[in-house]
This record gives sequence, C-alpha cells and structure tokens, in this order.
Amino acid sequence: MRVERVLCPNPGPYTGPGTNTYVIADDGMALILDPGPIIDSHLEAIRHALGSDSPVAVAVTHTHPDHAPAANPLGSEFGVPVYGFAPGLQFEPTDTVADGDVVRIGSTELTVLHTPGHTDDHICYLGEDVLFTGDHIISGSTVILEDASAYMDSLETVEKVTPELILPGHGERITDGRSAVAAYIAHRRMREDQFVSAIASGATTVGDIVDIVYEGLASALVPAAMHQVGVVLLKLAKDGRIAAWDGDVLAATRLTVGTERA
Ligand SMILES: [Zn+2]
Repeated sequence: MRVERVLCPNPGPYTGPGTNTYVIADDGMALILDPGPIIDSHLEAIRHALGSDSPVAVAVTHTHPDHAPAANPLGSEFGVPVYGFAPGLQFEPTDTVADGDVVRIGSTELTVLHTPGHTDDHICYLGEDVLFTGDHIISGSTVILEDASAYMDSLETVEKVTPELILPGHGERITDGRSAVAAYIAHRRMREDQFVSAIASGATTVGDIVDIVYEGLASALVPAAMHQVGVVLLKLAKDGRIAAWDGDVLAATRLTVGTERA
C-alpha cells in the first residue's frame, strides 16, 4: 500500500495547516480520501499524486465543507463511485457505506468504522496498520463536537482497534495512536470534571463556566467555547451529573450538579 498525503491550501482556525487529502494506492489502483474543497491547484495536486495508479473510488470521512465538496466532481471526472455515510452539504454519495463495510483498493482492505460525535455522519477507515481518522482525531488539537456522548463512545470504539499509525484529517501523522486516543479520552473526562466542579463551586450559566474554565480566552473564541460547553453539558445532564438542562447556552438557566433541579 502506498499512501500519499496531499495538503490542501485551505489553512485556517478550523483547518490548521489545511485539510489532508490522502491518495491510498495498491496494485495499480487508488482511492482518494477527503478530496477537500474545490480548489483547482489542489485538484491538480491530487491528480499528480495518483501517478500511474487508476482511481477506483473517492471517499469522505464526513461532509464538512473542508473535506467533501470536491468528491462528486472527482468521482464524475474519473467515472468512479463516491463513498460516504450519508448525503451532506455539497455532497451526494453514489454508494453509502455503513459500519463494518470493507472498501478494497487492490489487495488493501479498509474497514469502515462509524464514529459519530464530531458529526453524525463521521466515519474512520481502518487498514491493517493504519487508521484514517478524518476529524475524529486530528493532530495537535482537539476537535469541535456536535454530540459529546456519541463522541466519547466513538473514541472508545477507536481505542479498541487503533493501530499506532493514525493519519488524521488535519496536521501531521500520529505515530503513537493508542496513547493519542487515550489522551483524547482523558482530555474529554477532564473537561467534564472541570465543568461539574465549576457548577459545584457556583457557576450557574454557560457564560460562567467559560469564564472559569477558559479564563483569558480571546473574546472572538467565546461563542465557539460556549457552544462546546453546551454540547458537553447536554452529555452531563444525560449522565445525571448535572440537573436537566434545556440546551440554551445564552439563557440564564441555573445550572446545578446532581439530578435534582435547584
Ligand atoms: Zn469536520
């Protein structure tokens, strides 16, 4: 198996150095994973990375705009199927894939792992000695969550099977995959504990928690932090660690620990 990373020229606060597109080739065949946004120079770099290998499919880990929009155009250009878990913005799979499905590239087999949390439609691709993680695990940062409960479950799924080599959707390759996943899980647990202790020590709103836990955060990042705290509070309420909560991050709802509403 030959894996080539093609770094998309879309760096930014949410993409780090840019999206990693991977060309995964074996026996003269190639799969293009996460082709990214439609940027002509990037599409040209992907064609170049294919070399003499023939594309057999284009696939995405999820349908965020930094990963998926070039998938359908490349699929049409090469006349190959486009794999994804579900349709999304600027993305329509020709073939949907589900947890446990196997994608073949020559003699290489990649197993689909459904890993919701960053998005509901997120999947990872597991090879014999490599895991392609998209935005489930990235290099050098944590990820933005849509669903904290699903995300923790998906981290535990991946922890059981990950090889040491992780090729993420953003940033450099990770060569200590097992400890990287363990560190992600520890980080999530730490954040949950911090939020519960902030509430136990008097924080009654999402804004209070952000002020306490993310002290000194640049004001431009506060709305994103509030949203993320809200996502985690929904998990904490579900887990019974805080009282039921309506999910409105801007409301002055009184947050309380435990299952009894104050
Ligand atoms: Zn994403």
